[in-house]
Order: sequence, then structure tokens, then C-alpha cells
Amino acid sequence: MLEIIDNADLSTRTSLRLQGRVDRLIRVHHPAELADVKRALRGSFRGLLGEGSNSVFGAHIQGTLLQIAWRGYERIGHDRILAHAGEHWDELVQWSLCQGLQGLENLSMIPGSVGAAPIQNIGAYGVELSQCFVALEAIHWESMTRKRFSLEDCQFSYRSSVFKAPSHQHWIISHIELQLNRQATSAHLLSGQLASDHLPAGHLRSEYQASERLTSEHLTSKHLQSEHLASAAEAYVHGPSDQGRSSPTSMLNFRYPDLQAHFRDSRPQTALELAQVIRQIRSSKLPDPEIEPNAGSFFHNPRLHNEAALALKARFPRMPIYPDGAHHHKLSAAWMIDQCGLKGQREGDVGVSAKHALVLVNYGKASGDMLIAFAQGIIDLVQARFGLELTIEPRVLLA
Ligand SMILES: Cc1cc2nc3c(=O)[nH]c(=O)nc-3n(C[C@H](O)[C@H](O)[C@H](O)COP(=O)(O)OP(=O)(O)OC[C@H]3O[C@@H](n4cnc5c(N)ncnc54)[C@H](O)[C@@H]3O)c2cc1C
Repeated sequence: MLEIIDNADLSTRTSLRLQGRVDRLIRVHHPAELADVKRALRGSFRGLLGEGSNSVFGAHIQGTLLQIAWRGYERIGHDRILAHAGEHWDELVQWSLCQGLQGLENLSMIPGSVGAAPIQNIGAYGVELSQCFVALEAIHWESMTRKRFSLEDCQFSYRSSVFKAPSHQHWIISHIELQLNRQATSAHLLSGQLASDHLPAGHLRSEYQASERLTSEHLTSKHLQSEHLASAAEAYVHGPSDQGRSSPTSMLNFRYPDLQAHFRDSRPQTALELAQVIRQIRSSKLPDPEIEPNAGSFFHNPRLHNEAALALKARFPRMPIYPDGAHHHKLSAAWMIDQCGLKGQREGDVGVSAKHALVLVNYGKASGDMLIAFAQGIIDLVQARFGLELTIEPRVLLA
């Protein structure tokens, strides 16, 4: 049954908690129900709402937003998983780790739904979704046709995909498939702290118990004969790799500066350990949206050709720049905002977090218009100082 909510409050459905309402929100619990949605629209179709952790809405959104509410995930092979769009991303990550599957640990604790993850090719701590992505299935809003999008079709890049292009914004992602790396020591990992501390609730817990049985069966089966274990273990402890996408079963990636600083001369022994460290770092560095409502990074880190990046570095020697592929460098938008003296600055109910300069916060009853006006002020100041135009990361829909 479609769940129809008129005059839906968007402040409680978004991590920024901006004051706002939409004429109608329809929650769809099964792909087969999509055909009924057109008859249930109020005004026009205005797009998708996941968990609202990367969205800025204005005070009154005319028309109808859709929320995909079908959930669940499963293993569809030795080390491949399928996850439905309405699932919580972080629950999927934790479940995969509890299954002894490596690959999503760096993407721990990213808020939001599975369906939104490919939209901006979520990334963190040196890893992007695209690195373990196989394919997704989507349904076109107008024709209701289904299409399988391969990795190439999705055209992933830094915080972007083909689904951000106007031509592709009418695709509704139904489920995704990911290729992970089965760990040699899954039985041991299942007894790890993350497995016991962060078990998903309800039906997920029973899935976990089922998987626990499956794991012990696997360990005694021909699946994991000694040479298999040996090669998996070898792949697993090798540490940082430069292979990227070419090896979806590549090892733990702890090259990111915060992780290198944490591990120094040691290395994480398991994906669970790395995930836990990332959770700790994220908790200490990023403001909690429950306390300071925010949408994570509000601006993209600018990506420049080597020549332009090095020229800027010559003008601002303390500016951090990071090689990104052979021909580009990535710059730190947070550093630039900080240099403009904006970290911790407030203007009424909106401001830049004192914890992280890339995060804009709603300190009270701010509206989307107020936040965007404030963001534009930041863009102007950074442009005047560094000659670069920052771009906004979240989806913005103001009316
Ligand atoms: C505290 C915090 C930390 C964050 N850290 C990170 C981070 O480290 N890395 C990172 O990449 N992001 C990060 N984000 C941003 C956010 O978590 C991701 O962008 C996430 O994928 C958004 O998911 P959502 O369901 O909340 O999306 P929403 O905000 O609801 O929607 C975002 C976009 O996805 C589209 N969409 C949603 N569902 C579907 C669907 N089924 N089919 C088609 N389109 C759909 C919407 O139309 C919209 O364009 C952070 C956000 C917060 C609040």
C-alpha cells in the first residue's frame, strides 16, 4: 500500500532540519507499487527523498516527493551482495563486515540510503562506492521501464554520477550490486567487537545469525580449502595498494592521511578494525547532525589540472593539495574556508561548524533560502581570495 503524507514536514526528514514542507510525500514499499504512484500524485513529481542527509529544501515544495521504502540485502554469490534502495547504507556496511566481507569499511558511518549512494558516488577515507560497484537497477519515472546500469553506464567520478545530469534525474534506483572481498578470517571476525556492538536490529539480527551458521559451514566446506585461505589471507594483509578499481578484491586501504597518522608504523589487521578506527575519527571530527543539524560536506573539494593547482600552491604555499590521478590535484575547500576566517562563524540561525569548516549548520529554525544565501556568501569570499568558485554538494530544491 502506498503511504501518502500530505503537507509533509521536511524538517524531520532531513539531517539539516531546515523548516519546510512538501505538498505530498509518497512512501513506496514495493517496486510494483510505482505504477500506482502517478494516480496518487498531487501536482507534479518533484523527485526522490532518501534519508535527506544530502538535501536542502525550501520552505514550501510544490508537488510530490517520492520516498523508496523497500529494504533488505542478501548475498548473491560468494562475495557479491545485492541491496535494496530503501536500506540504510551504514547498516549494509556493518552487515557486510559481519559477513566477513571486506570493501565497505572506509565507507562506514556515511548517513543515508542505499538508493542515494550511487547518485554522488559516496566516498570517504580514500575509497569511493565505484570501487566495489558492479551494477544497479533503476526504473524510469515516465515510462516505468527497468534498466540495468553497469559501472561504465553510471559514469562515476568524484561525488558525481550520470544520475546528476538532468537527462537522468527521472531514474529511480531500485537496488544495487556490489563486489566485495571475502576475508580469510571471517569466523574470527564475526566474534569482533563491531559485530557484537553494532548488530542491526530485528530481522537483520536474524539474518546475521543465519549468516553465522553459513560461515561456520563454509569454513568446514571445500570452499575454503587451505590454499584458498592462504591466498585470501595474503591479499588481506598486504596493506595499501595502488591498484584501485582494477582489483575489487584489493586490500585494506589506509593511505588516507588521518588513517596513516593513526596507524603510524602498524597496520589494521582486519576490515572491522579499520571500520572502527574510521568510526572513531568521524565521531571526533564531524559534528553530529543530531546535535548540530548538517548535511556533511557542503562544498566539493575543487579539482584542478596540475598546472593550475601548482600555480595556486606557489601563491599560497601552506595550501594543502593532493594528487588526484596523473593530471589533477584536489584542493581542500575546508582549508580555504578556514583561511577566510569563516570556521565557527554564525549568521543568525546558520553558520559554519566550529568543528569542521566544510560543514554548514542549522542552529535553530533556519530555512533553505537562508542557508543558501549564507553559502553564497562563502562562495563569494573564497572566490575573491583564491579565485576559485566552490560548488555546492547537496541537492538543492527551494520551491
Ligand atoms: C554527517 C554527514 C556526513 C556525511 N559524510 C559523507 C561522506 O563521508 N561521504 C559522502 O559521500 N557523503 C557524505 N554525506 C552525504 C550523504 O550522507 C550522502 O550523500 C548520502 O548518500 C545521501 O543519502 P540520502 O538517502 O540521505 O539522500 P537524500 O538527501 O535523501 O537524497 C540525495 C539525492 O539522492 C537522490 N535519491 C535518493 N534516493 C534515490 C533513489 N532511490 N533513486 C534515485 N535517486 C535517489 C535524491 O533525489 C537526491 O538527489 C554526509 C552527510 C552527513 C549528514
